[in-house]
Amino acid sequence: MSFLFPEGTRALVTGASRGIGAATALALAEHGCDVVLNYRASAAKAETVAEQIRALGRKALLVQADVGDEAQVIAMFKRIRTEWGPIQVAVLNSGVTADGHLAAMSSAKWQEVIGTNLTGSFLTAREATKQMYASGGSLVLIASTSGIAGRAGQANYAASKGGVISLAKTLSYEVAPRGIRVNVVAPGFIATDMVKKVPPAQLKEALQVIPLGRTGTPAEVAQAAVFMASPAASYITGKVLTVDGGMIPN
Ligand code: NAP
Repeated sequence: MSFLFPEGTRALVTGASRGIGAATALALAEHGCDVVLNYRASAAKAETVAEQIRALGRKALLVQADVGDEAQVIAMFKRIRTEWGPIQVAVLNSGVTADGHLAAMSSAKWQEVIGTNLTGSFLTAREATKQMYASGGSLVLIASTSGIAGRAGQANYAASKGGVISLAKTLSYEVAPRGIRVNVVAPGFIATDMVKKVPPAQLKEALQVIPLGRTGTPAEVAQAAVFMASPAASYITGKVLTVDGGMIPN
């Protein structure tokens, strides 16, 4: 088996207990990485992913932290450095939705989504790049097609993901001289718990404008994230890769 990463590359995936994050953590392990699995609440699910990684002969470390909480994020990165050494790959995937039309959106709903998706990306990207300063590395931030094209009912979410894209592009310029690459994967409709919350009529409508005619799988997003994070993408930085069955134009 040939791996995309040097064996034992230390990778972090935030929101690795379920969905796209869990699939990405497994795919990184299949390609030679040891993986730190961050989660917020789903400890048992995160442990299951860790067991699958260990069954592949790789190491897994579970770290509970709310990515929107600065003290918890700092403590998480401190623990990683102490127990494993500095992280070399980070897939910043944690995310939430709280949909509703803007005219009726409460500040709490706005802050909840911005706090996890955008502030969480800021805090984890900052701490991850600090650990990569000495020896380089790569970051992949998971945004969304909503952050590029917008979507009715998702002003908070689209704003957070558009912010993630701008954050990643800016960071890519700042850290390139240190051998750190920063890219974005922007999924469309992917079959996870998050999409289960979309009303069936809305999902049916969305499927009609997806040229490939179906939702994507977490594994299909994971493959894109693994590629962008890996040395196979060594000359790619500051870019957005959409994984959406052809839904939005480039
Ligand atoms: P999901 O199945 O709902 O899983 C979300 C993950 O994020 C879980 O592991 C959850 O941890 C974690 N998380 C949530 N809030 C967190 C916080 N404050 N701190 C740490 N972890 C937190 O979602 P998904 O569909 O896999 O989505 C993953 C990413 O892809 C998100 O950024 C999402 O916005 C993006 N995305 C998804 C789709 C889609 O169609 N599914 C489309 C575009 C973009 P717990 O399990 O512990 O709660």
